[in-house]
Amino acid sequence: MAFKYVILGGGVAAGYAAREFANQGVKPGELAIISKEAVAPYERPALSKAYLFPEGISLILGTEIVKADLASKTLISAAGETYKYQTLIIATGSTVIRLTDFGVQGADAKNIFYLREIDEADELVEAIKAKKNGKAVVVGGGYIGLELSAALRINNFDVSMVTDVKLKDGRVLEADIVVVGVGGKPLTTLFKGQIEEEKGGIKTDSFFKTSVPDVYAVGDVATFPMKLYDEIRRVEHVDHARKSAEQAVKAIFASEHGKSISEYDYLPYFYSRAFDLSWQFYGDNVGETVLFGDSKPTSPTHKFGSYWIKDGKVVGAFLESGTPEENKAIAKVARVQPPVESLDQLATEGLTFAIGAEADNDGIELLLTQVKGKDITELIAAGREKLASVPAGGGAVAVSASASSGGGGAAAPAAAESKKEEKVESDGAYNLSSSLILAGPEEFDVFLWLLRLPSSD
Ligand SMILES: Cc1cc2nc3c(=O)[nH]c(=O)nc-3n(C[C@H](O)[C@H](O)[C@H](O)COP(=O)(O)OP(=O)(O)OC[C@H]3O[C@@H](n4cnc5c(N)ncnc54)[C@H](O)[C@@H]3O)c2cc1C
Repeated sequence: MAFKYVILGGGVAAGYAAREFANQGVKPGELAIISKEAVAPYERPALSKAYLFPEGISLILGTEIVKADLASKTLISAAGETYKYQTLIIATGSTVIRLTDFGVQGADAKNIFYLREIDEADELVEAIKAKKNGKAVVVGGGYIGLELSAALRINNFDVSMVTDVKLKDGRVLEADIVVVGVGGKPLTTLFKGQIEEEKGGIKTDSFFKTSVPDVYAVGDVATFPMKLYDEIRRVEHVDHARKSAEQAVKAIFASEHGKSISEYDYLPYFYSRAFDLSWQFYGDNVGETVLFGDSKPTSPTHKFGSYWIKDGKVVGAFLESGTPEENKAIAKVARVQPPVESLDQLATEGLTFAIGAEADNDGIELLLTQVKGKDITELIAAGREKLASVPAGGGAVAVSASASSGGGGAAAPAAAESKKEEKVESDGAYNLSSSLILAGPEEFDVFLWLLRLPSSD
């Protein structure tokens, strides 16, 4: 069988890629998804059957690809069928790390469960039903271990969470069920030696293009440039699986039409929940931590969080029980990385810091992201318009429409030093390649001054 586009994998990234193909107007018969799972792509975190699959696309299920020859653009299944493609999206995700991988004694016992695919979830549910009120050991203290422990507690299991089933002190825990959540490893074996790899994944650019022409990699398997941190990274989270898939498909269609799209500029985002707690995390969890809020479980108003501070700037934020507005505010903080003078003050301010920072920067930040890549004259016009709509005294900036060239005067370079900005000249147009935090109207002048722009007034 031959297809114009093939998505290899039937998980989150595959589902979102298929949806984006449909948005971009893929024609019937052009696209196939090949997945070893027996069901259409679904949202893995919920492990619900919320299928993501649009119509008009060939779904080749229960089909494991065992050989990939990227040079001849051919995939071969376990049953010996051959699939040809013009463009391939690798979305094979990760596989769970099994206790057998560590050579753990008794690792092949029947009551040991893993959770990656829907049939594994079904098997675990059956075991939970069969061993009512039993004892469970959850191996692994990451978010999956935590979520599983909560689910087992809700089902009246007596749960112990450990990092080793036979504990290092020699004790042995009894268990009716052992659930293992010790992490995953990207499924790249099919492509070994044919494609460039880095940090355990398939290396891509900001459009998820790999080192092999017409081959893209998305989701858990992709090691991609994380622009915000100027680093290449691999991310095993659903938000990135969705966004990377959309980016790759947009890039494919853009290149077919001789167009270009913006680089992927990902802000790490992760969410999880256990019992009646739910939390969101944005940014990077590096540097010093500052805890804030009320974390007493018995408190009716409990809401707590944490900031991560590196090089005097907030680089990550976590919040439990946040409202959508509060979560938006911590996301903004992680994106713009405002400076922090005192960690004690930050702890006292807590969530107010994020909300305040959002109000301060809302107008300008929006402006920069909206006009990125456009001609500078449009940037200024959009900036003026945006600033004009900010209510005076509303906690945000209100600038007079008289931004003049050189208006920042001698103060400009000093003010600029503490900010992140860069200008790139290309074909007579200017592009901002990173974000700029503007704390006040005069900084708009500074910004224009930096770009050596004449005022239109
Ligand atoms: C139980 C669980 C809970 C999670 N909860 C969260 C959460 O709360 N928040 C969060 O951000 N992230 C969560 N994650 C992580 C998130 O689900 C993954 O990051 C995401 O699924 C990655 O998407 P993907 O499409 O790259 O890979 P996957 O969704 O793993 O899909 C890979 C697909 O490729 C198929 N495949 C692989 N090899 C082959 C082959 N050779 N032939 C054919 N098909 C193949 C697989 O069968 C699968 O269908 C969770 C993961 C699990 C397992």
